[in-house]
Formats: sequence, structure tokens, C-alpha cells
Amino acid sequence: MSVGRQPVLGILGGGQLARMLALAAAPLGVQVRVVDSAADACAGQVAPLRVADWTDYTALDAFAAEVDVVTFDFENVPAATARWLAERTRVFPNPRALAVAQDRLAEKTLFRECGLQTPPFMAVDSRDDLVRALQAIGAPAILKTRRLGYDGKGQFRLRQAADADAAWAALGAQAAAHGLILEAFVPFERELSVLAVRGRDGEFRSWPLTRNWHVDGVLSLSLAPAPDIDALQPRATALARTLAERLDYVGVFALELFVMDGQLLGNEMAPRVHNSGHWTIEGAHTSQFENHVRAVLGLTLGDTGARGLSAMFNWIGELPDPAPVLRAVDAHWHDYGKQARAGRKVGHATLCAPDAAQLVVQLTGMATALGREEQAAPAAQALARLR
Ligand code: AMP
Repeated sequence: MSVGRQPVLGILGGGQLARMLALAAAPLGVQVRVVDSAADACAGQVAPLRVADWTDYTALDAFAAEVDVVTFDFENVPAATARWLAERTRVFPNPRALAVAQDRLAEKTLFRECGLQTPPFMAVDSRDDLVRALQAIGAPAILKTRRLGYDGKGQFRLRQAADADAAWAALGAQAAAHGLILEAFVPFERELSVLAVRGRDGEFRSWPLTRNWHVDGVLSLSLAPAPDIDALQPRATALARTLAERLDYVGVFALELFVMDGQLLGNEMAPRVHNSGHWTIEGAHTSQFENHVRAVLGLTLGDTGARGLSAMFNWIGELPDPAPVLRAVDAHWHDYGKQARAGRKVGHATLCAPDAAQLVVQLTGMATALGREEQAAPAAQALARLR
């Protein structure tokens, strides 16, 4: 692929996303270097790891000198660090796109400018703002930090206006540093995500929509292609494309969507490969990880079609017994090499099948073998309805 030396990809953040990017980069002849502040960052098990903080400019200077392109496994790398690196090497996605996706207010404002509706929202910078926002939006509602929130962290759900004191006690201290946003709580019918990729030459591709189920704000199970969404796919793809073009985005990103009354509402955009796209490793012709590496290095993008149907279990906190997955046909085990800890994503497993009838059998059988019936039940029901 390359004449001369192998391209070197630098990744800011050394978690499981960097680890899976490095594993996808190897067959392309791409070398990977990772920066993370934690010496035990799990990507360090598969690629050279430099231990440094985001403001350690001496270390970042050396890092920039040894890579051809820098990308992210973590969207909360400070925008200033991304801009600083962009003056020294190529950075994809660009720092402006990163900055928009880091701020829930800027992100939702952009969604609306691109024609994607969102739940009603208002910026909240003070206790008085919260009262005003609650009057305008009503309850139930969710107060969220504008920045640095993920997986349901930095959020407080208000059932009624009287919960304002408790919400302010929980998040008010963060208003000055990060800003807050109050959103209407949406009684959505489903949650979907669209994974898409844009190349350095502007080529755009998207994977089939994924249906997601969350528990306590954390992804629990994904099903792809999402069943019964034919009418929504073209609209979701067009919206993702508009967003990517507006941001001059390069690389993979995820757009998280709610479906309400058959309409799409934008929740958030992740400027990176995404947990709801892990099924693409075995379930699509080209995985999100491989296409991200290709995109940021300016290589030709691969086909994003699904091979059949896939269901992905997320392992949160600790891994179950791998034996049932290792034994099964077309079932794929991923252990991120992380220490078990409550709430932490430590692995996942993907089950693939040619059609819904076979996937539901595989999914329910696996759920029973793993003692994960509750986790699999909503997806099994959605699949069973298709039969
Ligand atoms: P987020 O960190 O914003 O993606 O939120 C995590 C999860 O919380 C989402 O995937 C939803 O399941 C739920 N959630 C977030 N915002 C809302 C909302 N405005 N209405 C209803 N559920 C929400």
C-alpha cells in the first residue's frame, strides 16, 4: 500500500477504542502509537503507549514528530491540545469538529441548523436559568453538563419541577466550569444510531442503522441492521452526511438518535468510533475501526454493508464466562484486557446470523447460557416480531 516506510497513526486516548483501532490498522500495514495518562491503558497491550497528560507539550511534541496523522479514541481531549497538535501534524477529525461535538449546546444547535430536530433544550448557567428553563420546557426533564459527560454521567433526571433543588445540588457546581443544558425528557419509541465515515477526499459512507438499548445511560445491547426502520434509513444517512460536510469531518462518527412518533430526534454526536458500531467488526464488510484508519490516512474506504444480522452484548463491570461464546458458531468474544470495576466497559460479544429467525435462536440460547436473559430480552422481542 505504501511505497517506502509504513504510515504511523497516533491515537490520543488508550482505551478499548484505540485498542480495536490498532488491531484493525495492523493488516493495512499501519503502525500505531498511543498516548494516555494511565500506564495501564488497555491499548498499550497491542501498541506502543506513551504515558503523558493532555497538557504535557514536551511529550506531545515528540509524539507529533513520530506519527503521520493524529486521531482520537476519546472525545474529551481538550480542544486546545487538538489545535496545538494540528499546528504540528495532521489531525482528523479536525479540532473544530471535535469542539462542536464536545459541547451539547453547540452540537444540538448544529443539529437544528442541519434540519435534525432535537428534544427542546435551553442553556443553564445559573440557578435562575434552571428555574426559567423548567418553566419553558416543563418536567420531566434532564439536566446535563454541556461538556465532559458520557454514558449517562453528568446527568440528573427531574421528574417534576420540585426536583430543581436536588438537580442543582448534584450539578450546579459544574455550571461555572462546563455549563449545563436542560433537555425535555423524551418518551422515545426507540434509540438508534447511525455510524458513518467521511474520507479526506469527501467520500461518504454509512453503515445500516443500529438499534440500541441502554441501562442507566450505558449501552447494554445493540442490534444491526435495526429492524423495521426502512423509512428512516435514507433520512438518517442524509442527516449524517449533511453534518459531516458542515464540519468538514474526516473519519468515523456516530449520530445517536431517538425515534418519537416515527420522527428522528438528535441526541448527540460522538466524533469517533462508537460502542454501537462494534458489531461491524464481524457483521459488516468493513468495520468502523478499519474504515476510520483508512479515512484518516487518506486511503480508499471499504464497503459498509452488513453481512447478515448482528447482536452485540456489552459487558459492563465484569466479564461473564466466555465459554458459551467461544463454543458457538459465528459468535465473537472481545476482552479489552481491563480490570473489572463497577460501571466500566470491559468487553463485548457479537453474535452474527444470516437472518432474524436464526439470530433470535442464537441470542436467546446465548442469553440463557450466560445468565443474561434480561439484557437480551428487548432485542429478542424485537427480532421475534419480525418472524
Ligand atoms: P447521553 O449521554 O446524552 O447519550 O444519554 C445517555 C442515555 O440517556 C441515552 O442514550 C438515553 O437512553 C437517555 N437520555 C438522554 N437524554 C435523554 C432525553 N432527553 N430523553 C430521554 N432519554 C434520554
